[in-house]
Amino acid sequence: MDIFEKCFQYTEVKTAIKEGYYPYFIPLTENEGTEVTFKGHRMIMCGSNNYLGLTTHPKVREAAIEAIKKYGTSCTGSRFLNGTLEMHENLEAELAEWVGKKAALTFSTGMQVNLGTISALLNKDDTVILDKDDHASIVDGARLGFGKIERYRHNDLDHLDRVMRSIPETSGKLLVTDGVFSMEGDLAMVPELVDSCQKYGARIMIDDAHGIGVTGDGHGTAWHFGLTDKVDLVMSTFSKSFASLGGFVAGDEDIIDYIKHHARSLIFSASITPASTASAMAALHVMKDEPERIKRINQIGEKMRDGYKSMGFNVGKSVTPIIPIMVGDDQKTFLFWRTLFDEGVFVNPVISPAVAPGCQLLRTSYMASHTDAQLDRVLETFKKVGKKVGII
Ligand code: PMP
Repeated sequence: MDIFEKCFQYTEVKTAIKEGYYPYFIPLTENEGTEVTFKGHRMIMCGSNNYLGLTTHPKVREAAIEAIKKYGTSCTGSRFLNGTLEMHENLEAELAEWVGKKAALTFSTGMQVNLGTISALLNKDDTVILDKDDHASIVDGARLGFGKIERYRHNDLDHLDRVMRSIPETSGKLLVTDGVFSMEGDLAMVPELVDSCQKYGARIMIDDAHGIGVTGDGHGTAWHFGLTDKVDLVMSTFSKSFASLGGFVAGDEDIIDYIKHHARSLIFSASITPASTASAMAALHVMKDEPERIKRINQIGEKMRDGYKSMGFNVGKSVTPIIPIMVGDDQKTFLFWRTLFDEGVFVNPVISPAVAPGCQLLRTSYMASHTDAQLDRVLETFKKVGKKVGII
């Protein structure tokens, strides 16, 4: 059997491209943050994670340029060996303080944080407990570990309790949840999860990729609930509000030190480039100096949710600037996406397995730098297209 046979049989994408309904890997020729261009066609970007609009902030750009001038383009090695710069450690100290923890550790992507951190903590007799809507990188981190994996239905506390009760007392336990769920923009029930973890002797880690910069005045979801002390580990990425590339995990010193010396995705991978480290640091400084951006992104979230709801769209349980438009059918989702695209609005169609079958949706997300005029145009376009494709 030819190992490549599966590739030759894989024709879905070719068919979708031929029919004009392939929504992925779209090569943009221009990207100025809130507006992007594809083959000369200009669109308002409502599918980015650039929540604070900092990818084009002069201070963030300048920091990246200066870092390249000073340190060159790459660290050409792992944090463990030659690839640690003083600026990595300075960034870690500031991040730890920002999320209310003692120590932090940066990795080259958020995916690598979850792969390395979760797998490093899971020995053979340990158990990791996941929400069924957790991000793929959490699931993969759990799979890489040697422990058992248990999953509970999304935000279902009764199911969680049954799962927790079924795990032997002798097993070390780590519950990992998204803080802000990445597809539907709803929050984890952090106080109840913390209570459950305390009841069953589990530790809790929050993936706040979509929370830091947005929730809890930018400090994240644990902060939003006043529970930074009760949440053991917080991770996040630099590829969203931090307008860069990389990620970090924060917690108590002993735990971070253990992860630092056991996480294979840290030890066996090159460190964050100087430009990315410096731009993440600059973005953190902008978060501190321009809190109005954090306020603005949350107000935009409210405006758009209210706008969609008043037109009759179902936006699920979103309370953040990630707003799903529920569609519930593959064909309709792609038609809706394609018509919006042609009308100048870029959003992301999401189908199974990224969401459960029957829960297909358009994921929309916003930036503090979107103008009201742009947002009003987006709402008008949704109304027109939503009626045309029969969603409202
Ligand atoms: N966790 C969550 C919840 C995410 O949404 C993402 C990115 N989509 C990641 C982790 C991975 O982050 P990165 O892009 O830095 O690899």
